[in-house]
Amino acid sequence: MMQVTHAVVGLVLGEILLLSTPLVVLGAVLPDIDFLIGLTHRGLTHSLLFLVLASLLVYKLRDKRAAFSLFIGLTSHLFLDAVTTMGIQALWSLNTFFSFNLTSTNYVPVNIFIIALLAVVYYNKESIIDYLTRVRRGVALKGSMAFTIGWSLLLIASPVIICRGSDSSINSLINNKVLNGMGVRLNGTICSSINPYYSKAGNEYQVFYICDNNESIKIFKGSWVLDNELRQGDVIYLCGTYTTDYGEPEVSYIDYVSLIAD
Ligand SMILES: [Zn+2]
Repeated sequence: MMQVTHAVVGLVLGEILLLSTPLVVLGAVLPDIDFLIGLTHRGLTHSLLFLVLASLLVYKLRDKRAAFSLFIGLTSHLFLDAVTTMGIQALWSLNTFFSFNLTSTNYVPVNIFIIALLAVVYYNKESIIDYLTRVRRGVALKGSMAFTIGWSLLLIASPVIICRGSDSSINSLINNKVLNGMGVRLNGTICSSINPYYSKAGNEYQVFYICDNNESIKIFKGSWVLDNELRQGDVIYLCGTYTTDYGEPEVSYIDYVSLIAD
């Protein structure tokens, strides 16, 4: 999600849960320091390991409330990024990006929707705090812990779910017969050279086209997705996300590629 969305989420969560708002906001924006300091974007700082270790560190240095404030901020960031097609390396150092695959990061309507929803929550702050106090804050805190465990487990199962998406033909993709953002399975022959591409965030991709019969579609594969020994002429099977967000139709956020034995 956009950084401003993360910050607003942190602000509202800090206020309604009566936590240390500065620490919740810090947690909500912290993971994105990764590409500023030269780490893989959405790698280590977007992992469950980082979530736990950073919270424990603050617990050691400060207290339970401070640690919980950071934890809430971090988990909100990780969850919102996990919702997007790029996903997060939740199980870093494993190279897999896990994703719920529901929206792309910079899709403005979704960001505006989240901020608008939070504005409503913030406007009703007093009654929400009153409610949370009545059901005892402990319940709210345990609830957010349960929420974190729940979404993490669901997320880790999700690449499998995406790969169970329907089989698509290149024809159906280039003619926009598939919804933008859908998980697809595809077969084809690599019919172009394989070119490296480096995103602004510093992640490396391999860009090429696959063909069947007379049609072709662009493939945007992260170099962390095995295998990296693909050659022009290889017949492959892949799972990824169909997107029209970048001009021409393409399949990005590849989470699985396999050579079809001939
Ligand atoms: Zn992020």
